[in-house]
Amino acid sequence: MNKILIAEDEPAIANLIKTALDGPDYRCAWAADGIMASDMLEQESFDLVLLDIMLPGADGYEVLEYCRTLEVPVIFLTAKGTVEDRVRGLRLGAEDYITKPFELMELLARVETVLRRCGKTGRVLFLPPDLEIDTAARTVCRGGVPVALTAKEYDLLLLFVQNKNIALYRDSIYKKVWGDDYLGESRTVDLHIQRVRKKLGLENRLVAVYKVGYRLEV
Ligand code: CA
Repeated sequence: MNKILIAEDEPAIANLIKTALDGPDYRCAWAADGIMASDMLEQESFDLVLLDIMLPGADGYEVLEYCRTLEVPVIFLTAKGTVEDRVRGLRLGAEDYITKPFELMELLARVETVLRRCGKTGRVLFLPPDLEIDTAARTVCRGGVPVALTAKEYDLLLLFVQNKNIALYRDSIYKKVWGDDYLGESRTVDLHIQRVRKKLGLENRLVAVYKVGYRLEV
């Protein structure tokens, strides 16, 4: 079950989306303006925001900034369909962009894709050739055999799998996995990386990046 926030000032459109998505897989909440959307994001955790650009209160670009600080993925949903708007939205960090009017089937497909890409679904993530991560059960199998990971090792693995081929800074890894500020002298990240590599056979793929941190090569 994923929680989705619909930030949309036109009730008819919000309702249409809510009706299409609500069910066993998704539960939707509706915010009619940008301020209300920000308040709801602050109070509750959402897995995805469907965000209209032209919103009263605070516009979609402002709400997007807020979503980014909370690390909630965003799909822009808007009548503004020019190339410039599309590029601006994606540059600012939206995961996807849907132009109104849209087909509900298309919306559903994009919602599913973004949630999966961001590791928000209960689906199993694959890391070729032999790793399977069940994000609902928080279990990892290597070649079909379960591997026991500690909670932090699992969080670390998931972070890299969700950011494949991206060099992650030690301090941001520390902040995301340990939820605390990195003070610079800690070996915690390095020690956990070594254990994850060894347990999962990632010695050649979870590589150190000089002066930065680590990158998972896929
Ligand atoms: Ca609007």
